[in-house]
Amino acid sequence: MTAFLRQFQEPHGHILRLFYFRVRLAAEAIFGTASGTRYEDYLNIVHISTELRGRIFTQLQAAYPNEGGGFLLGSHRNDRVTIREVRPISNVYAPEEQFHRYAMTPADWMRLEDEADARGLALVGYYHSHPDHPAIPSEFDRVHALPNFRYLITSVQAGTAADFRAWQLSDDRSRFDEIELHVGV
Ligand SMILES: [Zn+2]
Repeated sequence: MTAFLRQFQEPHGHILRLFYFRVRLAAEAIFGTASGTRYEDYLNIVHISTELRGRIFTQLQAAYPNEGGGFLLGSHRNDRVTIREVRPISNVYAPEEQFHRYAMTPADWMRLEDEADARGLALVGYYHSHPDHPAIPSEFDRVHALPNFRYLITSVQAGTAADFRAWQLSDDRSRFDEIELHVGV
């Protein structure tokens, strides 16, 4: 659980880090680059391989017309997240609610935290489907969102993955912002 708890013990770490990098980039623009910093290193981007995206799509299409989902294990480099593993989780909602609700159990959560720690990875996000709805976060998604997580939403239209987008909760929790999603190597 340690990595997860640290996120909440340092709620402003993300903002301070962003501020630091912006100051550093501004200074390097004026005084020249001494450290080889590349601006694109600090953009908020999610990278996922074609293979992992394929595994997500296969799971979510099989879950249709219900919602499916799972966790994303990966690594951070500044604000850039690279997805290394996907971990489907079971739908704990009653069958009549499953078409629009998805959640994890505390046991799922602890198992994933331990696995990520053991492998030198972090729990970096959550993915789920919106059956026959756009790949845009719902109000339910916003209320339940974690601040440091990246959210990958797949629109599954008539059983086929049709759109795949990445989102992150704004610092004041008032909305989701769309972030860049790179699929490939
Ligand atoms: Zn949703």
